[in-house]
Amino acid sequence: MERVGVIGLGIMGRGMAANILKAGFPTTVWNRTASRMTPLVEAGAAAATSPADVARHSDIILTCVSDTPDVEQVLFGEDGVVHGAASGALVIDSSTISPNATREFAEKLAGRGIAMLDAPVSGGSEGAERGTLSVMVGGEAASFERALPMLNAIGKTITHVGPSGSGQSTKLVNQILCVANMLAASEALLLAKASGLDLERTLQAVGGGAGGSWMLNNRGPQVIKRDFRPGFTIDLQQKDLRLVLEAADELGLPLTLTSMCHGMYNVLQRQGLGEEGNHALARAVEQLAGIVIEG
Ligand code: NAP
Repeated sequence: MERVGVIGLGIMGRGMAANILKAGFPTTVWNRTASRMTPLVEAGAAAATSPADVARHSDIILTCVSDTPDVEQVLFGEDGVVHGAASGALVIDSSTISPNATREFAEKLAGRGIAMLDAPVSGGSEGAERGTLSVMVGGEAASFERALPMLNAIGKTITHVGPSGSGQSTKLVNQILCVANMLAASEALLLAKASGLDLERTLQAVGGGAGGSWMLNNRGPQVIKRDFRPGFTIDLQQKDLRLVLEAADELGLPLTLTSMCHGMYNVLQRQGLGEEGNHALARAVEQLAGIVIEG
């Protein structure tokens, strides 16, 4: 079995690392804040001292950190992956970052004999924990085949979508759907509340119909219970929407709904709510209407 290293044990990375370990891969982990490694070490993973140290002990290196500069840092920075990885290693980046930067990183790694796949994921913290993520993979077909046994440990729907960068482009497509569905769920619950409907029964009635969505079914119940703890923070959601709008700008596209959601999230960030979950978009809708969606 290939040895797997996981760099970044945040909300998503820790679930993925736990499932890789459970699937029987010899697993080495590293996280910038060292205390986040403890539960995985207790479950049987080895702790590394740096990304380079992870790479020294791994054939496949999975990264899941916040943003484009963070991926650059863990791959190419001081003590980065390139300083420990052997030629023939495979880097799989499951962070959501710029497709253009991804292609540059893949080329730089290829120059050192290291292959790279972009493999951003969707399915929330729940999907990471349960190993049911959707994984959108860009890169060479041979690397995809090599990665499949490990990707099967973290995901349920694993799709090779095209060459390097196209996994990230697909993830941006996915992010439009997430925020648009969250806005729709918020407005729907607002009308339900203002109409005097029982919110739980409303969710039950419409969740399985043509208007249902992952956001409605998973985040709708949290909104009505006023639980805005993050599965995915507003700050990271805004990072993704910026990437979507940059891509739209490059291509000259009018993504009006996405631009509107980005603006509404800006309001929430100004109110200091950036660390709440992205379902707090409902709060912006509530503020416009002067109604709280509680049920
Ligand atoms: P998170 O909980 O905030 O975790 C971020 C992780 O990145 C932490 O382990 C953090 O280390 C590490 N990190 C950030 N900057 C770093 C740097 N410069 N050097 C080293 N480590 C660094 O975020 P998350 O929700 O797991 O998201 C991680 C990635 O997955 C993001 O790109 C996000 O867009 C994507 N994603 C998230 C979700 C979701 O629902 N949460 C779904 C799909 C995709 P520390 O512990 O030291 O801070």
